[in-house]
Amino acid sequence: MSTANTRFDSPTPIQFVQRLQGNAVYMKRDDLLPFSFGGNKARKNHLFFQEIDAQGCDCVVTYGSSDSNHCRIVANMCTERGLSCLIISPEEGKHDSYNKTLNQLLGAQYVYCRVTEVAETIGRVVEELRRAGRKPYFIPGGGHGLPGTQAYVDCYREICAQERAMGLHFDYIFHASGTGATQAGLVCGQALQKDERRIVGVSIARKAPRGRQVVVDSVHEYLAHVGVADPESADSLVVFEDAYTGDGYGRPDADVDAQIRLMFVRHGIPLDAVYTGKAYTGMVKWLEAQGVEGKNVLFIHTGGTPLFFDAVNRVCQIEDGE
Ligand SMILES: *Cc1c(COP(=O)(O)O)cnc(C)c1O
Repeated sequence: MSTANTRFDSPTPIQFVQRLQGNAVYMKRDDLLPFSFGGNKARKNHLFFQEIDAQGCDCVVTYGSSDSNHCRIVANMCTERGLSCLIISPEEGKHDSYNKTLNQLLGAQYVYCRVTEVAETIGRVVEELRRAGRKPYFIPGGGHGLPGTQAYVDCYREICAQERAMGLHFDYIFHASGTGATQAGLVCGQALQKDERRIVGVSIARKAPRGRQVVVDSVHEYLAHVGVADPESADSLVVFEDAYTGDGYGRPDADVDAQIRLMFVRHGIPLDAVYTGKAYTGMVKWLEAQGVEGKNVLFIHTGGTPLFFDAVNRVCQIEDGE
């Protein structure tokens, strides 16, 4: 796997996108990570699969809905190694999507269950594999856990190095926050570097205080793991913005669709309706509501390109007069 291990060594590009109220908005293109349409799940699972390779596991179990970019990346990292992949998926979130089609191409096996029976089903599937003499590895949904957090601590360091090379400082970093590992990693990166800026996780579904608490818990877990004596000192760095979740996970929103059109037409960058489009739209509204002007702002594009195509027909139906 020596070639696979160097694949993520190059930093993803940071590009200038637009001016907004005198702010300069840049984007870090983690969607361009060079594996299976990239995204933050590629960054996180790269580290999970280092553990899987080291432990010599022969199959991987994970969890996610039909929209899950995480499951696509896991399934593809499995086929790359010749491992089998089982995806536990909630019946309630079952619908057609390009991610699901790709997972079928990759030969991943779906096990559906009620959303209330997820933990139990995961336990049963893992146990059955063990009893059959297999060596399974379980990756929590979204790539949550220490390797997932570590991936975005590393990304934070990458951003700091790019700032030095570009000769600028980002006053704000925005990104879509889902299961919270991306935000936890960035915040831990900041806590370790002790630099001045605000990281804003724009929630795409969860509400505070629970959604924020999940991020805080992951921050504590990671900082304690690396030997920081007072992990609570990082709590104030967790800005979890839940004002832009709209009607909930994956639900269409006219403002988000308009932003997706604009971003593609003006800048050639695909955003999606579930994660990045929602977060970018939230960021634009947040900057306006907070009266932020004249600052350098970085938006992390966390991937999800197959979801851009899931929504493209709806997004392109431009209403009369628009
Ligand atoms: C999973 C995902 C997120 C959310 O990341 P978390 O680490 O789960 O908070 C954001 N954007 C995209 C495209 C994703 O697939």
